[in-house]
Amino acid sequence: MNMMRRIARLLIISLVSFYSLAIFAHSEKRSEEGAAAIYLGNEAVLISTPVGKVLFDPFFHNDYGSYQFVPKGMRESIFAGKAPYDDITAIVISHAHGDHFSAEDTLAYLQKHKATMLVAPKQAIVLVEALDESGAVASQFVPVELSVGDKPAKQSLKAIEIESVRIPHAGWPNRKEIANLVHRVSFGESLSVIHMGDADPNDIHFKPHKEHWESKKNNMAFPPYWFYTSTQGGMILDQRIKALKTIGVHVPIDVPADLKNHGGDYFSKPGEQREITKSGLGE
Ligand SMILES: [Zn+2]
Ligand SMILES: [Zn+2]
Repeated sequence: MNMMRRIARLLIISLVSFYSLAIFAHSEKRSEEGAAAIYLGNEAVLISTPVGKVLFDPFFHNDYGSYQFVPKGMRESIFAGKAPYDDITAIVISHAHGDHFSAEDTLAYLQKHKATMLVAPKQAIVLVEALDESGAVASQFVPVELSVGDKPAKQSLKAIEIESVRIPHAGWPNRKEIANLVHRVSFGESLSVIHMGDADPNDIHFKPHKEHWESKKNNMAFPPYWFYTSTQGGMILDQRIKALKTIGVHVPIDVPADLKNHGGDYFSKPGEQREITKSGLGE
């Protein structure tokens, strides 16, 4: 009888572990390569891979009346470092606009997560440096200072390589003083993702960097959604960057009709996920 009870208990334990595994697998959908993109809001995306994790543009407080904030619960999990937001190698910032960046939040996060680096345009880092107590996190700063036309800046952080190019902000030549960075983050040898910030969809900015775009396979790109609906955006993604898979971001909560009609993939609801695969295929 005692033996039977032990067996029953073992069975229950294995069933429970099986179900928690199944639930985990469900909550974080990963490709065969073990990599996933999880949407947080506006242009905030978590990239989770077996060799490292990055958070793009995770902290901001301006929605310009139409964009998606990162929900409160997600923000709390990020600050608490709760899975899947644990062991973040780097916070990677596209540019210092209020719908992409908050200096105060960034400082608070870095104070709590001493192993996480901040890769950002110098313009954004200066805003953090202006805050009291920023001295204590200065060793976590990786400032990128580029002019339009400069060769890509490269940083290696553990198994992650980050290459950044300055591409003018949408609306160019207006707002040309804002340093908008298009970052390519490579996780080990085989997976690269490109986050484009608020890039202007005009090939004159992308063409000079032809070699850079073609020097690696670009498995996934996150263009602002206007790349889908503008004249040259689609061509830049397909033929210049040659992204195997694209997911539009910066999508207004009230999704524009021309974006819906376009048929391209995009993120619009926090928590949405996509697998990142070598082929660009997958859900
Ligand atoms: Zn902007
Ligand atoms: Zn923006």
